[in-house]
Amino acid sequence: MHLPDLPGLTPNRRAALLDAGIRSAEDLIFTLPRRYLDRTRTVLASKAADADGPVTVFGQVVRVQVLGGGNHQRLEVTLQDASGRITGVWFKGVSYFKGRFEAGRTVAFFGTAKRFGAQIQMAHPDAEVLDGDGKPATLSGILPIYPGTDRMKKTYISGAVFQRWARQLLNEHPLPEFLPAALLKAYGFPQRQQALHHLHAPDALSQTLPARNRLKFEELLLFQLAVRRLRLTRTERTQAPALVPGEHTKRFFRELPFGLTGGQREALGEIRRDLASGRQMNRLLQGDVGSGKTVVAMGALLMAADSGLQGAIMAPTEILAEQHARTFAKLLEPLGVNIALLTGSLTGGARKSLLERLANGDIHVVVGTHALFQDDVSFLKLGLIVIDEQHRFGVRQRLAFQEKGQGVHTLVMSATPIPRSLAMTLYADLDLSVMRELPAGRKPITTVVRGERSRDDVYRHVKAEAEAGGQAYVVYPLVEESELSDLKDATAGAEELKARFPDLRVGLVHGRMKPEEKDAVMRPFVAGELDVLVSTTVIEVGVDVPNASFMVIEHAERFGLSQLHQLRGRVGRGGRASTCVLLVGVKISREGRERLETMARTQDGFEIAEVDLRLRGPGDVLGTAQSGLPEFRFADLLTDAEWVAAAKRTAAELLEADPGLTHPDHAALRAELDRYWVERERLKDV
Ligand code: ADP
Ligand code: MG
Repeated sequence: MHLPDLPGLTPNRRAALLDAGIRSAEDLIFTLPRRYLDRTRTVLASKAADADGPVTVFGQVVRVQVLGGGNHQRLEVTLQDASGRITGVWFKGVSYFKGRFEAGRTVAFFGTAKRFGAQIQMAHPDAEVLDGDGKPATLSGILPIYPGTDRMKKTYISGAVFQRWARQLLNEHPLPEFLPAALLKAYGFPQRQQALHHLHAPDALSQTLPARNRLKFEELLLFQLAVRRLRLTRTERTQAPALVPGEHTKRFFRELPFGLTGGQREALGEIRRDLASGRQMNRLLQGDVGSGKTVVAMGALLMAADSGLQGAIMAPTEILAEQHARTFAKLLEPLGVNIALLTGSLTGGARKSLLERLANGDIHVVVGTHALFQDDVSFLKLGLIVIDEQHRFGVRQRLAFQEKGQGVHTLVMSATPIPRSLAMTLYADLDLSVMRELPAGRKPITTVVRGERSRDDVYRHVKAEAEAGGQAYVVYPLVEESELSDLKDATAGAEELKARFPDLRVGLVHGRMKPEEKDAVMRPFVAGELDVLVSTTVIEVGVDVPNASFMVIEHAERFGLSQLHQLRGRVGRGGRASTCVLLVGVKISREGRERLETMARTQDGFEIAEVDLRLRGPGDVLGTAQSGLPEFRFADLLTDAEWVAAAKRTAAELLEADPGLTHPDHAALRAELDRYWVERERLKDV
């Protein structure tokens, strides 16, 4: 629907609106004031300076005078009312304003008054000369201030003009209600049409808050409903076998060489309740790097094994899968749990026999990569899947994996700590467990920022660390020297290290290598047969080499905060005190500096994520298009946590009570949801 004709909407102004992204009546109606000037507060002249903020004063003009000379001219216009006098002062536009005021006329001033000696003054007040009946036309009521572009300002689209258009469009195209009456009542929300009237033309400022909350709630609710319905229609089965901990689970936790952290205990409690509920678990476990998510996953997989069902855990790379398989074998096989590893490299007879053992139930827990959901992989009774580093997989893959069984419980794990409200929106169809703390006894990582001049010194530290039995990572942002930048590339870096310290065992991995080539370098590093791993950011995800105690990040100013945090999480995993050196170039933006300072200041992933979100915004941090996170027009995911929670709760309750939204009370909501669905076609790729 294109923008209809409106009084005063000249071609220039139309172009200015288009420029600001306002193309239709709907765009205009939903462009809301950023703030308001409240001109309903009228006070007596003598009291004007006591008021907190701007006020309106009415009075008769008793004096108009121009004082000073040359560049220092000023105009003073004094009004008198029953209580006393107030003087408006203009330093600019003196001759223009002088002509507007005549002694004896009634005038209204709007502005912030201050006392100067005996005088009460307003500098550059908004002024209106009143007509005979003394009623101000523009200086009363509440004036909306809209977000505007320069072009809108140049075409004089004032708040009053925009407001007039919005009111006219609202009256010509009334907005039907789609929230069920019960919800409006429960939250004290105005009707949709009324909410927009209250926002564009409030009678009192108190009307604007419920109106705005209503709009936040409705868009969050639609999103939550859309995502939930998506899941329901895709997997339909919500019934799932009840899994309960038995002997293996109990023994595992009894014999674990360390006590669980509070976060692990809580997450396991939530998982246990989900698994026992008879309904499919769909839970996201969020925990910072090193917070101990693997142990939690093991606990869940053991509950499946104890209940006679099989479990699977999927990792994004072969190295990670192998790493998990080793840990699982070490901790679970002694309990009599059969573990297997299934990756793309497993072929021929070995693969065939593994598939047989999966199909006949001989294998209790299988660890693997994408290879796990190939067509010919089938389970006797798959009860639970765990997806590690979930951001590396799409929702489609998660759902395909779930299809390998009936009512398969699902636990996805993520090391990207994001604020709860954001997580609830982004992963609307998942319940959330968060582990904030790291296991006790971790040695903090000393993080320092160093310039090029310290390079020799830093290299000597790498060498010393290797001699003391530690291992080091040296990470570069790009693979090769680019023509446009002075980036030292990883290849040159590795050569330099080898040249300086011939007995240092140095390996190199970069993004252009094939997976097998990468693995051929990673494996000896994991096994302690290399001292230094020079790499591009391929080590970012999940590699666990507890002996690695030193990290150098080259051109650290070019990495994003979350990436720096993930990288740093590769060290400080064992008993060795660890160091992370952020080597930086000379030219660093203010934002870059803030990133580096944040890294040096804290190791708390949540704190880091919050700074990151503040610096870049959720869309950039999470990749809006990729994550399927829509742009919300009214809600701010960072600050509107309670509305996000309310919408999520309401969506769950609505669909629980009326899964198809077929009840007559929900007809309008369903229609709106269908419309939303079509508009957000890309949601299907979430
Ligand atoms: P992440 O959450 O990054 O996947 P891991 O599960 O790999 O973390 O755990 C990191 C290390 O911490 C592992 O070596 C693990 O054995 C150890 N760990 C896990 N939980 C605890 C705990 N409660 N106390 C001490 N160490 C723990
Ligand atoms: Mg992990």
